[in-house]
Amino acid sequence: MVEALPSKGVSGEQILEELRELRRADLPTHGGRLFAYVYDPALGGLDDLAGAAHAISAHVNGLDPTAFPSLLAMENALVGAAARLLNGGTEAVGSVTSGGTESLILAVKAARDSRPELTAPRLVIPSTGHAAFAKAAHYLRVALDVVPVGDDLRADPAAMAAAITPDTVLVAASAPSYAHGVVDPIPSLAAAAAERGVRFHVDACFGGWVLPYLKRLGADLPEFDLAVPGVTSISVDLHKYAYAPKGVSILLHRDETLRLPQYFAYAGWPGYTMINPIISSTRSGGPIAAAVATLRSIGDAGYLELASRTREAVAVLAAAVTATDGVRLFAPPETSVVCLAASDGVDLFVLADELAARGWHTQPQMTYGEIPATIHLTVTAAVSATAADFAADLADAVAETRARGPVLLPEALLAAAGGLTPEMVTPALVAGLAEGLGLGGGDFTRMAEVNSLLNAVPPALREALLTGFLSLLQRPAPAAE
Ligand SMILES: *Cc1c(COP(=O)(O)O)cnc(C)c1O
Repeated sequence: MVEALPSKGVSGEQILEELRELRRADLPTHGGRLFAYVYDPALGGLDDLAGAAHAISAHVNGLDPTAFPSLLAMENALVGAAARLLNGGTEAVGSVTSGGTESLILAVKAARDSRPELTAPRLVIPSTGHAAFAKAAHYLRVALDVVPVGDDLRADPAAMAAAITPDTVLVAASAPSYAHGVVDPIPSLAAAAAERGVRFHVDACFGGWVLPYLKRLGADLPEFDLAVPGVTSISVDLHKYAYAPKGVSILLHRDETLRLPQYFAYAGWPGYTMINPIISSTRSGGPIAAAVATLRSIGDAGYLELASRTREAVAVLAAAVTATDGVRLFAPPETSVVCLAASDGVDLFVLADELAARGWHTQPQMTYGEIPATIHLTVTAAVSATAADFAADLADAVAETRARGPVLLPEALLAAAGGLTPEMVTPALVAGLAEGLGLGGGDFTRMAEVNSLLNAVPPALREALLTGFLSLLQRPAPAAE
């Protein structure tokens, strides 16, 4: 490990070599073999361009756009592009945020603060809504009403409408959902909210920059953007399908009146008057400049081409899943996600490990209520070059998974876990468990046992165990020269 504060400064050359060395432990951000976390357009030179743009604006401070008009101009350019892509018309306004979570927190904050007379505001989402809504509700003390989705994994308009109360400040749904990649029926959901005078947010954090292009390519997808009556806000992450480096999302509102309660203003101290449209106050221009560079380099025609490659890749992966005995498509592959479930005799978590052993890094998703454990694949343009190889390895990985058989957790471990409540989870207990499961050495390549254990316990215990585990990992590094 490197010493962050050496007694004397170190040469730039050495530092960059150390950083590259650290990066070698990471999963590959390029090459179309990592199906979560990263979005790869596989365009040569784009990283260098975005990196150079980031460097130009890294020290610019978004705190005060009158001091740094470059940042204001770049933000307005990004918001303008997003508003045109998502049919915002002439009235839409927006903000550049640091990511989807921040966009959702601010959508909920704007809705909450538009109804200051309510003492117990509520938010309605479908059960497939992103976890960031729960985080927003928690941070903002807004009660969360989670409505089960239908058998088709989509928000159920009648059930969502029935969940709206006089205290509801916002109804939200996804285009598409992250877990399964299906688009909620936005027009009927938004109409139901509008009828009751309630704001409606479309979480297009994941798909907002690819759905418009998939539609242009002929994909049969419902309307989901600001053209839909009743939609009052929409979020889209540029660090997903706009392929910008991390740290940029956009929150659009139908008009300025709707946006106003998103702002925080404070003049009640002896320092500068603080006017913040978003959560951070000081913030870097780096990610914003990198996003502008990325959008301008790819251009509208480029995004159409990338969406076409993505669509091709999804078709190849989906066909591979369908053709492989032992796995099945869990959701229709209608956007840029392939979500698969295992059939009898195939342990999904072992399969995820077997795929990883073949260099395919997927995202296992745990059982939630009626929804079984699945494997999620976020498909990006880079996968068009690798999808055929995945197809071949999938069959092989399933065969090996069958041969290995399912994870059988020791009875004693299951019994001990069964008796645990979240309150009983202490740092010492987590450390012991991590050691026992072979996680002590920082090798996370064989995760089937861990995933099976987490999958077997209730969500609240899962949260407590993983919180303890992350806390265990996040330790100040000892001094090192
Ligand atoms: C990624 C995502 C978010 C959260 O975005 P972050 O950028 O990770 O904060 C919210 N909603 C959906 C549908 C997403 O895919």
